[in-house]
Amino acid sequence: MSENCIFCKIANKEIPANLIYEDENTVAFNDLNPQAPVHFLVIPKKHYSSLNKLDSKEMFGNIFSVIPKIAKQMGINEYRTVINTGSQAGQTVFHLHVHVMAGRNFTWPAG
Ligand code: AMP
Ligand code: ZN
Repeated sequence: MSENCIFCKIANKEIPANLIYEDENTVAFNDLNPQAPVHFLVIPKKHYSSLNKLDSKEMFGNIFSVIPKIAKQMGINEYRTVINTGSQAGQTVFHLHVHVMAGRNFTWPAG
């Protein structure tokens, strides 16, 4: 738990979020400012400020294995996954999160 971290607070239920999935290690919730018809975030409950700080292969596996599981439950099998690492890459919340977006066409390369 990192003080003043909004995603730690969501993981700890200190502030409300539209949770769509939860297990021992991870939480997923809808993005407040969706960039696609489906746009949710998957986070580890444990605080890592970015992917650069993720020191556990097990946690890496926990995070990524829930994505196809949630997608399947939602009936989607085509989606974009994004991790922004550092402000230059567009990271604004410094608690590791994976964006999962679906429901429209996506262009490449990302802007
Ligand atoms: P990033 O720019 O990659 O750090 O992504 C941060 C994302 O978190 C943005 O897409 C925001 O819309 C989203 N976000 C910020 N605060 C909240 C919140 N309280 N609940 C849900 N999503 C949030
Ligand atoms: Zn945090």
